[in-house]
Amino acid sequence: MRAAVIGAGMAGVTMARQLVAQGNAVTLFDKSKGTGGRMSSRSWQGGWIDHGAPYFAARSDEFAGYLQRHLAPEVWRSWQAQISGTPNQDELADYIGIPRNSSITRSLLGAINFQPSTRIAGLEREGNSWLLFNDGESLLGRWDLVVITAPAPQTYVLVRDFHEIAEQVKKAQMEPCWVAAVQLSEPLNETAEVMIDPVAGLRRIVANSAKPGRNNKNVYLLQATADWSQGHLEETPEMVGAKLCELLLQGLCPATPPQLLFAHRWRYAFTKTPLGKGFLWSQGLQLGICGDWCIGRTVEDAWASAMALAEQISN
Ligand SMILES: Cc1cc2nc3c(=O)[nH]c(=O)nc-3n(C[C@H](O)[C@H](O)[C@H](O)COP(=O)(O)OP(=O)(O)OC[C@H]3O[C@@H](n4cnc5c(N)ncnc54)[C@H](O)[C@@H]3O)c2cc1C
Repeated sequence: MRAAVIGAGMAGVTMARQLVAQGNAVTLFDKSKGTGGRMSSRSWQGGWIDHGAPYFAARSDEFAGYLQRHLAPEVWRSWQAQISGTPNQDELADYIGIPRNSSITRSLLGAINFQPSTRIAGLEREGNSWLLFNDGESLLGRWDLVVITAPAPQTYVLVRDFHEIAEQVKKAQMEPCWVAAVQLSEPLNETAEVMIDPVAGLRRIVANSAKPGRNNKNVYLLQATADWSQGHLEETPEMVGAKLCELLLQGLCPATPPQLLFAHRWRYAFTKTPLGKGFLWSQGLQLGICGDWCIGRTVEDAWASAMALAEQISN
């Protein structure tokens, strides 16, 4: 079968691999330039800054075993960060990518046919085929099977004409997160590499430079709380970056003011209300939907959702 997978985050690359292993001819699309989705990284002055998930955990032996079997050893390693404060389940640290977190999805992608910088703007059903259209409304081709792994609100836009499925997608809710990467002249006066709730408005500070391979010094990632992010949602990255620097300055008193490298808005960063089932699948339409938001809000949830849907498709 010809299968199209939309989204090249953890769920999308996992799904693409499983479909290839089942004997399908797979094309993987992403609107971004590379893989990773919400576990992406940015290059910065010859080094790397992880501006999505800074690290992730494997709670199940299945996920840890999958990574061990399928990842090249040089693209990941364990990172048992020292954490101050009380982390939630989705803030526990086991692993990072090397030299950046998006190395993980890049390695899992392997030789799969990947079409980056391609936003899927529409899906049409014609007979037993799916027609996919890009932003310019050009037809990209025909597929027998489509799997969407975009965050719930972006998935909804693609399936809104398929009412039964669309109604279910609508039940999941997601919340935003502003992040800012900053550089300090001296390290923070804190031994922890991850600080939870360090200052009002900031949920987490992660010492990006403390992770091996990042090739930068005293670079920190500031992650705003969901409420703060919602309150500043439509401001410019420059305005938000300056405000997050101010929070750091007032709360943790670094030796000199932080230098803002960039700020990034994740409009659909975390699951607020999950769908409550592992995936959505329509046998009649040959349409599948998976991603972290089906069951939770972590990298492992994205993987588990994709694995469960792949198994359903193979039956
Ligand atoms: C700031 C931040 C910190 C986080 N911290 C942690 C953490 O510490 N631990 C943890 O486990 N998790 C963390 N997470 C959550 C984790 O990143 C996600 O759970 C996981 O990466 C989701 O993977 P996914 O494949 O389901 O979705 P995504 O990674 O969002 O992948 C979906 C992909 O679909 C693409 N896409 C969307 N619409 C279209 C379209 N129309 N056409 C083509 N492509 C499209 C997107 O570009 C994206 O690449 C964090 C997230 C953020 C934002």
